[in-house]
Amino acid sequence: MSIYAILLSGGSGTRMGAKENKTLLTIGGEPAIVRCFRAFQGLTDGAVLVTRAGEEGLFADTMRQYGCFPLAVVPGGEDRQASSLRGLQALPADAEIALIHDGARPFVTKEIIRRVIGSVTACGSGVAAVPARDTVKRADREGRVIETLDRAELWHMQTPQGFYVRDLLAAHDAVSARCTDDAALMEAAGYPVQLVMGSPDNIKLTSPEDLRMAHGMLTPRVGTGFDAHRLTEGRQLWLGGVKIPYEKGLLGHSDADAALHALTDALLGAAAIGDIGQLFPDSDMKYKGISSLILLEEARRVITELGFSIGNVDVTIVCQAPKLAPYIPQMRESIAKALQIPVDQVSVKATTTERMGYEGRGEGISAQAVAVVFR
Ligand code: MG
Repeated sequence: MSIYAILLSGGSGTRMGAKENKTLLTIGGEPAIVRCFRAFQGLTDGAVLVTRAGEEGLFADTMRQYGCFPLAVVPGGEDRQASSLRGLQALPADAEIALIHDGARPFVTKEIIRRVIGSVTACGSGVAAVPARDTVKRADREGRVIETLDRAELWHMQTPQGFYVRDLLAAHDAVSARCTDDAALMEAAGYPVQLVMGSPDNIKLTSPEDLRMAHGMLTPRVGTGFDAHRLTEGRQLWLGGVKIPYEKGLLGHSDADAALHALTDALLGAAAIGDIGQLFPDSDMKYKGISSLILLEEARRVITELGFSIGNVDVTIVCQAPKLAPYIPQMRESIAKALQIPVDQVSVKATTTERMGYEGRGEGISAQAVAVVFR
């Protein structure tokens, strides 16, 4: 089955009161739309982004900074239904199942997405929803209650909403009435719609209160790392993922990049899953001479699989010589790329110890790092 996500970011966002598209608002170090994209990654064959007209470039750039590459970024239509259709039209010709998701629901989980996909393959549709918790009444315009609805039959609709692409296209053709979600469109076209359990956490960012709630749903965690290696002749000097011209290099099993080792430990520490030595034992020949950027990328992969997002990282390198200042911009860029975060979430600093200690005598280089993650 070829399964694609359509992420809708075309809403006007007037109720949020922000100028910026609300799906670009940052939660736990990541824009909402990036959190959505990452949730679908690995479960689908790709994702198409539907934005407000004129914002396609902005979205493509933002996604790239986070190492996210949608298949297409297309402008939306005049309402949700039109935007959803634009997304469908941008899918590859072989697309069988479409999962349509609000870009303003950043807390969608892989479990919910799996339930939706399972339901589509089993019975042709799957729509995330949660049962009503409060009693719901119907009232007239003056607020006089007409009736109390049976709560057992009431559900709040969420996304993703999954259907076969051919059914969705047929429904768009058949229905001219405007619908507020894809489930309503499919109902209007006479297709059965199957609910699957969403989550109360799968909120849609609509108002500033939702944004406060969203920030409150994530817990920040911090980790620290430290590393030191001996300087020796006949080795290349690698620091922060950058090769630095110098007469000596750091001695170690890998490229001995102390800055990246400290940073990798800070990330693993924030997630409380051990240290670099446990994850990449130096008894293992496959790590001999390896670029520490690969170890850092692997640490990122492991912690993101556990549901952590990266807030910011800060590295301090303690080194008497050579002068590191000219290489710091490159170090920040290589770290940002490996961690799939923007450069402004990566800090690298260098200092000396005024000739005191082993770093001061030029016997070695050490590094310290702090990382903040959210889950
Ligand atoms: Mg080390």
